[in-house]
Amino acid sequence: MTTENRTSTAGPTTVTAWAAPSAKAPLERTTVERRALRPTDVRIEIKYAGICHSDIHQARDGWSEGIFPMVPGHEIAGVVTETGPEVTRFAVGDRVGVGCMVDSCRTCDNCRAGLEQYCFRGNIQTYNDRDKNGDRTYGGYSTHIVVDEAFTLRIPDGLSLDVAAPLLCAGITLYSPLAHWGAGPGKKVAVVGLGGLGHMGVKIAHAMGAEVTVLSQSLRKKDDGLRLGADHYYATSDEATFEQLAGSLDLIVSTVSAPLPLDKYLSLLKTDGAFVNVGAPEEPVSLNLFSVIAGRKSLAGSGIGGIRETQEMLDFCAEHGLGAEIELIRADQINEAYERVLGSDVRYRFVIDAATI
Ligand SMILES: [Zn+2]
Ligand SMILES: [Zn+2]
Repeated sequence: MTTENRTSTAGPTTVTAWAAPSAKAPLERTTVERRALRPTDVRIEIKYAGICHSDIHQARDGWSEGIFPMVPGHEIAGVVTETGPEVTRFAVGDRVGVGCMVDSCRTCDNCRAGLEQYCFRGNIQTYNDRDKNGDRTYGGYSTHIVVDEAFTLRIPDGLSLDVAAPLLCAGITLYSPLAHWGAGPGKKVAVVGLGGLGHMGVKIAHAMGAEVTVLSQSLRKKDDGLRLGADHYYATSDEATFEQLAGSLDLIVSTVSAPLPLDKYLSLLKTDGAFVNVGAPEEPVSLNLFSVIAGRKSLAGSGIGGIRETQEMLDFCAEHGLGAEIELIRADQINEAYERVLGSDVRYRFVIDAATI
C-alpha cells in the first residue's frame, strides 16, 4: 500500500503518520512533511516501527517540553527507495534502520570518536527535536522518513525487519554497556528488569558468552527469562536474593526506571564490579558512598550507542540470530498499546506494521 501523496523529489513530500496533536492527547492519523532529499540523504519506506517506553514519556510530556504535533518512533526498519546524488553507502532496495538520532555536530571529540550519542553540542533526536536548519523532526510512526546516510544503519539479511526494529533503541541500549564493561565468557552479568530493554540484554549477554542472571520483582516471567538465555532468575522482592548473590556479580545493568535501593544492589557486586543504569527514575536517588568505596565499585550510566557501534550490534545480532520478541500491531492500536506498555502488559516489544499506517 502506498500512502505517499507526492513522489516528486524536487521538494518536500507529504507522508502519512500517527501523531500526538498535543501533550497527553491520543495519537491520531495525520500527515507530515518530509524534507526534499539533500545530497547525502536516503528516503526510506518504513516497514516497521517499535514502540519504546520513551515514546510514551515524550508524547505525554513526562520528561521535558515536547514539540507538538509529535510523531514518535525511534526504532525504525525499512527499505531505501531513493538516494541523494552524493550517497555512497546505500542503494535503492537496501534494508536499513534508523535509531534514536538523525544527526550530530560531527566535529566534537565524541562525534569524531564514534560516540555521537554523547555529542557535546547535543545530537539531533529522530523526533521531538529540531534539525540543524530548524525544521521539526518526526519519527517512525510514519510511512516514510528522510535521513542522512551517516545516521542510517544497514540491517543484515539474516534479520527480519520486524524483529530488527526494536534493536535500534532497545538492542543498542543494552549492547553498548555490555560490550563496554566486557560481558563475555567467565563474567557474571545481571540484568535488572525483564521488559523491552531487559529481554534484549539477556539475549545479547548470553550470546556474548556471559553467565546471565535476571533480577526481576517477581518470578512471573521466569520461564521466559530462562528461554531467552538466562542461567539464573531471582525475585528482588525476596530478601534472600540479596543474601544469596552478595559479592557475586561482575556487572549489573539496570533497565528499570523505578528508584532502586542502590546500596543493596551494589552489595551484589564483586570487587571492581560495575552497576550501570540505562533506565532512570525521574527523581534524584540517594546513595551511601561506602557502597562503592568498599570493593572499588563503579556506579555508572549508559545511553544508546554510537552509529558505528549500532552497526556492530546489528551485525552481532544477525550473526547470533537475535531479534526482539515482538507483538505486531496495527497503527490504530497504538493508543491501546501505550496503555499496555504502561501496565507492563507486553512480551516484549510492540511493533507497528507500517503498512497499516
Ligand atoms: Zn527508545
Ligand atoms: Zn558532536
